[in-house]
Amino acid sequence: MTLSIDTDLITIDKIQLFPNQQVETDMLRLDKIHTQISGNKWFKLKYYLSQAIRENKTGLISLGGPWSNHLLALAAATHLAGLKSIGIIRGEKPAKPGDTLGDLSDLGMELIYTSRSAYRNREQLLSELAQQYPDFMVVDEGGQGFTGAKGAADILQLVPDSQQYSHILCAVGTGTMLAGLALAAHPHQQLIGISSLKGKEEQLSAIEQWFPQLADRLEINTAFHFGGFARHTTQLIAFMNHFFEQTGVPTDLVYTAKLCYAWKSLTQEGFFEPGSRVLLIHSGGLQGNRSLPPGTLTF
Ligand SMILES: *Cc1c(COP(=O)(O)O)cnc(C)c1O
Repeated sequence: MTLSIDTDLITIDKIQLFPNQQVETDMLRLDKIHTQISGNKWFKLKYYLSQAIRENKTGLISLGGPWSNHLLALAAATHLAGLKSIGIIRGEKPAKPGDTLGDLSDLGMELIYTSRSAYRNREQLLSELAQQYPDFMVVDEGGQGFTGAKGAADILQLVPDSQQYSHILCAVGTGTMLAGLALAAHPHQQLIGISSLKGKEEQLSAIEQWFPQLADRLEINTAFHFGGFARHTTQLIAFMNHFFEQTGVPTDLVYTAKLCYAWKSLTQEGFFEPGSRVLLIHSGGLQGNRSLPPGTLTF
């Protein structure tokens, strides 16, 4: 059994946000791959899936929060591949499960709710899962790690003439996608991750552990977290609506909105020297916007 995703749906769009925008910018629209197996999550999962199929595993097991893009992609991809899936969900079962949890159940994922304290001890949780479910392949939170980054390295194959870009910008959660892009990038290209959360030390040390050669190859900017992971401000929401009106591109509140805001700020500050060509990676995740009250976004 093989599983393939239609990467023909991905486009590269020119991003023109202001009238005299000096920096030529394109965006790789990974959000268009699939509504559930969205964006970078497909790339981070693909080698786990092929390995699970090769090793005759029953399915995949992983963990995440109640709005996790990763668990949704994993549930949908395993469903398509004819494999089972188990999701360890952070926190108590809500009285009224949100849209993402509903989708996970619809896709046949078995959901196991776990206390926040048990979830926090991820290393222990992962090793317990490996013991309890020997027929399942255990995938770390968010698809992070060496195998996920190897998959993310394939992202740049979708960009013809990718060496034309001087800068590649992407959102950072675990840093796995950024590491993958850095693995595949040309030596002259600057790799900049925009962190969706306050810190970057954990991400940088994880990347260095997976790929020691990447230590000097990339940087993470933490100036645009808007209060921390999955936090947002009214300013960010207003920006998302404005960005959509001007460019036609929807962004998600956790990752790509912060990425695009950072790109706009850096452009206006003159961070990119004249003649720069910027590639923004739209890593998907739009389904997470369903956590907002209806009417918050104009798209
Ligand atoms: C998961 C996710 C990220 C973060 O990717 P990492 O590899 O964990 O850094 C970025 N953007 C979107 C839309 C995501 O869903």
